[in-house]
Amino acid sequence: MRSDRRYDVAIAGGGFAGRTLALALARLAPAGFSIALIDAEALQADLPLDARALALSAASKSLLAVLGLWPALAPNAQAIESIEITDSPLNAALRPYFLGFDDELKTGEPGAYMVETGDLARVLSAAVADEEAIDVYAPNTVADYTSDEFGVAVTLGNGQTIAARLLVAADGKRSRLRERAGIKCVGWSYPQIGIVTTVAHAKSHHGRAVQHFLPAGPFAILPLKGNRSSIVWTESAAQGEAIMAASEAEFVAELGKRFGHRLGEIALAGVRQSFPLDLQIARSFVADRLALIGDAAHVVHPLAGQGLNIGLRDVAALAETIVESARLGLDIGAAPSLERYERWRRFDSAFSAAVMDGLNRLFSNDSTPLRALRDFGLGLVERAPALKRFLVREAAGATGNVPRLLRGEKL
Ligand SMILES: Cc1cc2nc3c(=O)[nH]c(=O)nc-3n(C[C@H](O)[C@H](O)[C@H](O)COP(=O)(O)OP(=O)(O)OC[C@H]3O[C@@H](n4cnc5c(N)ncnc54)[C@H](O)[C@@H]3O)c2cc1C
Repeated sequence: MRSDRRYDVAIAGGGFAGRTLALALARLAPAGFSIALIDAEALQADLPLDARALALSAASKSLLAVLGLWPALAPNAQAIESIEITDSPLNAALRPYFLGFDDELKTGEPGAYMVETGDLARVLSAAVADEEAIDVYAPNTVADYTSDEFGVAVTLGNGQTIAARLLVAADGKRSRLRERAGIKCVGWSYPQIGIVTTVAHAKSHHGRAVQHFLPAGPFAILPLKGNRSSIVWTESAAQGEAIMAASEAEFVAELGKRFGHRLGEIALAGVRQSFPLDLQIARSFVADRLALIGDAAHVVHPLAGQGLNIGLRDVAALAETIVESARLGLDIGAAPSLERYERWRRFDSAFSAAVMDGLNRLFSNDSTPLRALRDFGLGLVERAPALKRFLVREAAGATGNVPRLLRGEKL
């Protein structure tokens, strides 16, 4: 293979998953390890306007801490101190919650933190720019690649070619590399859209997150620093598009009906944005000299804020697999290494996607028998402290075969 430059790993896609993997390899792999990071958008600039804030689990925070990135994020990261889950009708005078997590979250490290996407993008970009081991090709694309027993030859959109031992597809849910490798997906689009915005309110949220299951889909109020909350509002596609097209006054009126009065007067404190919602799992997470991570491998319903957390589990597992192989002098792109990664991540991702899908189906309806059944089931959870503690540990990403970086250990 004749190429302009040779690397150990080429990463297609410099979103949150791709950028974090590049940093993990640059900081933890043996000296001399080299990484190419290719993205369609320029990485040094902030992300295009994105209204989202991300709920990052304690495990994701540990990964960012091991990589030395957390201190820059911590000042504006809001810990989630308690969670309330309700499915009260909107016109109910009171909205009693049937499942709450309070003391369970106060036993040690918070289970999750809210981090604004602009902050995460800035911190990751600055760290990538400082790493000598990472060459950034952006704006540029991965147009094509071929593989053989020695490595991959990657053709970029501007005609340049680079070679690597392993190519990582971190190019998002419409991954061109996944398609090029002939990997099919299972899944479907939800007849819902996710509306996202930021709200300022008169009173303090005290770190409380609220998940309000409404018939069209869940409405989440997630605490941000200051008297602000991030809204993730799932609506049926038709109703959601009408809400997005409404004037600001009408939008705030609809938002206010769902938000309630508990935090006092509200005002919009950011743009509104909507996202199509899908469930999608790649049938395989690997192919010849190719590994899929992040949304290229799996897309889940955002109702529990798990998408990137699952993607960062891929990052931690793949980084551990690559670093261990590299230290032993093994071929990091060879089948045994890739098979280890796939065994580690595919079942866990499919399981998470199925749980989010099940919850969305169970709650996004107004059937009286179903409402009675789910309230009964969740009422049982509410009275079972051990089960609640387990759920908290699961949401924090602390159960199962957890990669070492997610436990806060260096490789
Ligand atoms: C409404 C909503 C709320 C969410 N809330 C949360 C939350 O609270 N917590 C959480 O953990 N997750 C959440 N998620 C999920 C999370 O946003 C995604 O899982 C995550 O952003 C995916 O990151 P990624 O890097 O895998 O993919 P992307 O962000 O899609 O990045 C892919 C990158 O690849 C680049 N690219 C594409 N094609 C090419 C190519 N051919 N060559 C080079 N580059 C290419 C793109 O420019 C892009 O930068 C939410 C999602 C939605 C929709």
